[in-house]
Amino acid sequence: MDPAAATRPRRDTVPTPTEQALLADLGRTLGEDGLRTSALSRATYRRDASFLNADPLAIALPRSREELAAVLTACRDHGVPFTPRAAGTGLAGGATPTGVGGVRPLVISVARMDRLLALDVANRRAHVEPGLVNARLGRAAAAEGLRFAPDPASQIAATLGGNVATNAGGIHVLTYGVMSQHVLAVELMDADGEVHLLDGRLPEQDALDLRGVSVGGEGTLGIVVGAWLRLLPAPPAVGTLLAGFATLDAAAATVGALVTSDRLPDAVELMDARAIALVEGYAQAGYPTDAAAVLLLEYEGLAAGVSAGVDTAARLADQHGATEVVRAADADQRARIWKGRKAVAGAIAKQAPDFFLQDVVVPRSRLGEMLDAVVAIGEREGLIILNVVHAGDGNLHPFVLFDRREEGVLDRVFAAGHDIVTTALSLDGTVTGEHGVGIEKRDFLSQVYTADDLALQQAVRSAMEPSGLANPDKVLPTTVGCQEAQMVPEGAWV
Ligand SMILES: Cc1cc2nc3c(=O)[nH]c(=O)nc-3n(C[C@H](O)[C@H](O)[C@H](O)COP(=O)(O)OP(=O)(O)OC[C@H]3O[C@@H](n4cnc5c(N)ncnc54)[C@H](O)[C@@H]3O)c2cc1C
Repeated sequence: MDPAAATRPRRDTVPTPTEQALLADLGRTLGEDGLRTSALSRATYRRDASFLNADPLAIALPRSREELAAVLTACRDHGVPFTPRAAGTGLAGGATPTGVGGVRPLVISVARMDRLLALDVANRRAHVEPGLVNARLGRAAAAEGLRFAPDPASQIAATLGGNVATNAGGIHVLTYGVMSQHVLAVELMDADGEVHLLDGRLPEQDALDLRGVSVGGEGTLGIVVGAWLRLLPAPPAVGTLLAGFATLDAAAATVGALVTSDRLPDAVELMDARAIALVEGYAQAGYPTDAAAVLLLEYEGLAAGVSAGVDTAARLADQHGATEVVRAADADQRARIWKGRKAVAGAIAKQAPDFFLQDVVVPRSRLGEMLDAVVAIGEREGLIILNVVHAGDGNLHPFVLFDRREEGVLDRVFAAGHDIVTTALSLDGTVTGEHGVGIEKRDFLSQVYTADDLALQQAVRSAMEPSGLANPDKVLPTTVGCQEAQMVPEGAWV
């Protein structure tokens, strides 16, 4: 995306006759409380957790499927595009309200549709509304001795609908996989307000897997109004281990040895020296501050297997020159170790007013090279970059720290972000592991897929969402470009 293509926030834009007619219809359906049009509300919903922003027409906050269907049919009747939104923690601009052809979209927030509809213990599944926060399902499942495996670091805020829409991942992806592996069925509302049950609740499929297609749709295929999610038994035992290393390469080599060992860990997280220093000053997680990198490792399952896994990990860490290996003695120490990992974003807030969080994947065998490249990119751009890595699956999250008030800094931040992506591609990696494509990664897709592959994806999208009103201009490269969105230079607007 070219920052020079920016448009100014349109605080004083007068709604066109079409927009006025839509707003009048929506006002009748949603009432004053369910429709926000003020400049303040529009500023609040200009972006997600990315740095891409655009001016929405208004924000609709339906409370039910019926209200949502009325909102969607009103959009259809007036030809106004819409941007689905939940908690707004997305990092790729997916919920940034870009329109198409100069038409401002309506933001449709599903945050008020947040009920846990059923916890079906016998069949180990939950039926949820899209606005239910991930951690709330986790707590409800835990009370029944169950767990919901996808655990994004944002789980205390991000919603399950957002997780479905972005095919979210988390710390335990290595064994449990991403969201798609835990979504049994999706209820998808189309632009006509009709709900389609894309069902995979029974293991044997007798039709095309449209459930699978819909997970990761990022709001371009319709609005997720419900989901059936898989629950797993809570593990009887958990073993957690913290290992410190004098070099990043030693930590990366240990990861390689661990994932090819006969005791595959359930979580393998890597943090570099800058991340360690920041987190220790904030959360006192007990990480060695003289280490160049730490690995956080976890095994789950029956006690004997967990114990054998922790032994294997400790041995392999030692063999690769670990300077320190700590086994969590109890649940408190385990929680403390993970607290550091989950506190990274909070810790950064104490150090720098802004951060840009990148998300790329490389084959595990190229992890060391990729980490070296990120360090070099930071040095070249004069930026502090710290690395937090889902190392088991080669998914890097470089955090670029900055202060947007510094003249020209955003150009350097985005140059670094761009180079991190192109480096990952050059190492046989890909452009996103879990944060999605949105607008930020959209134009990279033509380096990942052939034109024919992209045309096929577009054909599927058009078949499932023929109106073209659902989150236009996102995910798939188009000829329209992203002139509706801009980077965030105006502090007053964020
Ligand atoms: C500090 C931090 C840590 C993070 N850690 C992780 C992590 O570990 N793993 C991970 O995967 N992500 C992570 N994320 C990214 C983000 O939390 C996820 O992408 C999450 O799934 C977004 O959920 P949300 O409810 O905030 O959705 P939003 O940001 O509101 O929306 C995200 C996308 O989904 C679409 N959407 C939302 N709801 C619906 C719906 N009901 N129907 C159709 N489309 C919809 C939107 O249009 C948009 O394209 C992190 C973000 C932050 C800020």
